[in-house]
Amino acid sequence: MPSAVLEIVTVPCLEDNYAFVIGNLESKEAAVVDVPEAGPIKAALKAKGWTLTTVLLTHHHWDHVDGLADLPNLESLVVVGAQADAHRLPDLTFALGNDQSISILGHSVQTFDVSGHTVGHIAFYIPAADAIFTGDSLMAMGCGRLFEGTPAQMWDSLQKISALPGETLVHSGHEYTATNVQFALTLGEDNPDLAKRAAAVTAARAKGTPTVPSTLAEEMATNPFLRADSPPLQSALGMDGADALAVFTEIRTRRNNF
Ligand code: ZN
Ligand code: FE
Repeated sequence: MPSAVLEIVTVPCLEDNYAFVIGNLESKEAAVVDVPEAGPIKAALKAKGWTLTTVLLTHHHWDHVDGLADLPNLESLVVVGAQADAHRLPDLTFALGNDQSISILGHSVQTFDVSGHTVGHIAFYIPAADAIFTGDSLMAMGCGRLFEGTPAQMWDSLQKISALPGETLVHSGHEYTATNVQFALTLGEDNPDLAKRAAAVTAARAKGTPTVPSTLAEEMATNPFLRADSPPLQSALGMDGADALAVFTEIRTRRNNF
């Protein structure tokens, strides 16, 4: 059950990035996941009356870290990122590997190595908030491009996330959902849930409403990158009975060319 103490604010940044400000409603202290730019994050903190104490970084790409230097209380901030990426991230207070725990805002945060988009990409799971922060690994209706890792690495990363409870809220780093839906529809899977979600995403974007976070259950039902072992999708791709990794690789290749 989500914590009554933690509140998560989705903060649009740059063209299509998201940062997430997590506030502890008792202590009024806050953490932010990724820092595309400081301005909108500072505005969100001010609107809530929260003091930033902690920064969680999912991966080294500029659109997830470049605003860090402009955050308030920079000297006293706790900065958390992947050990594997410590050499190319801003100075880290805590450098973590896969499956480690750290206490943030009085709650346990668990790390997952979710390499694929980059090698050393990390996701942060907060069970008390039913929330995972996936950066550019699992995304709404999609997954990140494989700039550094292999399809096998990304598939393995997605399996780790998909083992979490269905009600887990997936906070990913970009608003790419409309394009991802258009792509998913080209695969031709007979999937009523996908048709329903496509309509919901179109309606949300027409109003300018973020489609992030989504629930893991929604992603399992509609995101083709989590459905490489789904018989109707395999059938639509002419890959009945194929190895899930081969199907995932085919979908990822098609998405690159979409
Ligand atoms: Zn990235
Ligand atoms: Fe990104």
